[in-house]
Amino acid sequence: MSSIFTRIIKREIPAVIVYEDDLCISFRDIDPKAPQHILVVPKKEIKSMADVTEDDELILGHLLVKASEIAREQGISDSGYRIVINTNKEGGQTVGHVHLHLLGGRQMEWPPG
Ligand code: AMP
Repeated sequence: MSSIFTRIIKREIPAVIVYEDDLCISFRDIDPKAPQHILVVPKKEIKSMADVTEDDELILGHLLVKASEIAREQGISDSGYRIVINTNKEGGQTVGHVHLHLLGGRQMEWPPG
């Protein structure tokens, strides 16, 4: 069974897509936790950061580079933003397909909840 994010990649369910290339797709979170809340998702269906191997080095680096570019395009680069990768149950992960949250447009707190 494909993950919900793979279904977005295949255009089986809709999303507000902000960027896409051969390795990743980026779209707006359906339940935003900040004025800007964008997900950056590898097209390869890696379950979680706990499942990453050395083969994923290029993909993971790519996600970070694209998140930086998207933040610039969305106008939150100078003000600042947070990148989050929730991992497995105690990390708060709810979708079993690695994704990076790009959150911005408001002051972030530390430590996170
Ligand atoms: P996580 O809890 O870190 O696994 O993040 C999953 C994120 O995916 C949550 O912030 C959800 O709001 C978001 N999400 C779930 N379904 C969709 C969807 N169909 N389109 C966009 N975002 C989604």
